[in-house]
Amino acid sequence: MKYYLFNLEIETIGDPKTFNCSHKVGDGLTVEGENISLKPGTKQFSHYALSSLLPYVAAKQRAEQETDWMFFETDIACPDPKCGAKFRFKRGAKKEYEYH
Ligand SMILES: [Zn+2]
Repeated sequence: MKYYLFNLEIETIGDPKTFNCSHKVGDGLTVEGENISLKPGTKQFSHYALSSLLPYVAAKQRAEQETDWMFFETDIACPDPKCGAKFRFKRGAKKEYEYH
């Protein structure tokens, strides 16, 4: 059986002056299928931020209805309430997978 998932890129955005954590604008992650990697050029990524992003990954790989908020909302805030960083989900190619 075949199914489809979008590749994702998750990128740190915002004004660094408002960051309370060690985020760097432009740093981020890539997601392809079940695998998450550091985006090229990213040396480290906050595990607190990662834990707040993970619940959205599987849904963002799949949402395809333009009226579904999971389709059109792109930014997730850092879980530190004193931090102004956000993480932007960008969609890449739609890939076909085979379920065995
Ligand atoms: Zn933060």
